[in-house]
Amino acid sequence: MKDLHRAFHDHLAQTSPHPLALDIVHAEGCHLTTRDGRRYLDLVSGLAVANVGHRHPRVVQAIKSQCDRYLHVIPYGEFIQEPQVRFAERLTGLLPPTLDSVYFVNSGTEAIEAAVKLAKRVTGRTRLIGCRRSYHGSTHGSLSLTDNETKKYRNRPLLPDVAHIRFNDPGDLELITTEAAGVVVEPIQGDAGVRIPDPDWMRALRQRCTDVGALLVFDEVQTGFGRAGRLFAFEHFGVVPDVLVLGKALGGGLPMGAFISSRDRMALFTHDPVLGHITTFGGHPLPCVAGLAALEALQDEAMLGNARRAGALFKELLVHPRIEDVRGEGLMLAVDLGDAALVQRVVHGCLAQGVLGFWFLSCPTAFRIAPPLVITEEEVRKACGVVMECLSRPI
Ligand code: PLP
Repeated sequence: MKDLHRAFHDHLAQTSPHPLALDIVHAEGCHLTTRDGRRYLDLVSGLAVANVGHRHPRVVQAIKSQCDRYLHVIPYGEFIQEPQVRFAERLTGLLPPTLDSVYFVNSGTEAIEAAVKLAKRVTGRTRLIGCRRSYHGSTHGSLSLTDNETKKYRNRPLLPDVAHIRFNDPGDLELITTEAAGVVVEPIQGDAGVRIPDPDWMRALRQRCTDVGALLVFDEVQTGFGRAGRLFAFEHFGVVPDVLVLGKALGGGLPMGAFISSRDRMALFTHDPVLGHITTFGGHPLPCVAGLAALEALQDEAMLGNARRAGALFKELLVHPRIEDVRGEGLMLAVDLGDAALVQRVVHGCLAQGVLGFWFLSCPTAFRIAPPLVITEEEVRKACGVVMECLSRPI
């Protein structure tokens, strides 16, 4: 057998020339441990996945128990599988009545693809609207809605009939016309460097979609499941989407996505054609039990309140002449330094001191702070101390 690092580079397809290549042997709560015994305070959460902390005991126990019952038994939707049904029931119980039907898939991008199909089915239209600086995933449909040209130009042609409006720009809402099937929006833009829209714009967006008969699709893959200090970010704005798209933290650390809408809309997938959307593994029992256990932990252990308090403490402590802005809600934060080279130095400086921060896809001047929602006050203070020390080093 080759040395692990050698095999990692030789045989695992890579997506960047210089991966961090931390060799993880253990993860728990807010910490990652590498083979050489180093312990890292995780401000990334596997990219907004480990919201309840790594290996939450309730999640681990739920997975172990389900392993003793059954794993995959049939493609989505054919058999009654208690984990799917109970998780869907629990999720819809937390949502407005118009979001009462859940379709589980395997990832965020897959959920976006399916949500877009639903918008086309419901409206009989083809035009899709996304927002400038958005990110919705890496498959062709999601990439078409994404507005990051550096990720798109090698993959054209993408979906036809897709337009982008400016996020948070009231004037651009006029571009949503009666030709639009759906408008796909992150209620708080994540990879654009955490951008929070004006609640008035959100309400006007909702109204415009209603007026022209387009489905409003909220991509809460990153914001959902408590990340932004509420279970779903749309709760910050008092605006209910027609389709809610979830992923990342939804499966409690296992791969899972979902799109949620009304039963009558979802019923369109049952005819003309039958099996209008299908997936082999979507709703696999392991992510379903893990997701339900994570949801129960999130609620029973008051993690939303902790996310809001910890987020406020980060904002209070991260004050430095080199910090231009700390944006965000809950524990979905961007620390903007206005300088991409400085971001590189700070992220790598923090890593050397055992604090793992990370970049954004479309905002090189900022780094992200998105720790598990269980982070303690002491851990927040430690993380901020390391960031401030890195920022204070002479250039
Ligand atoms: N939508 C948003 C807002 C995301 O942040 C992401 C991933 O970062 C996706 C969709 C795609 O999710 P996945 O990577 O699970 O396909």
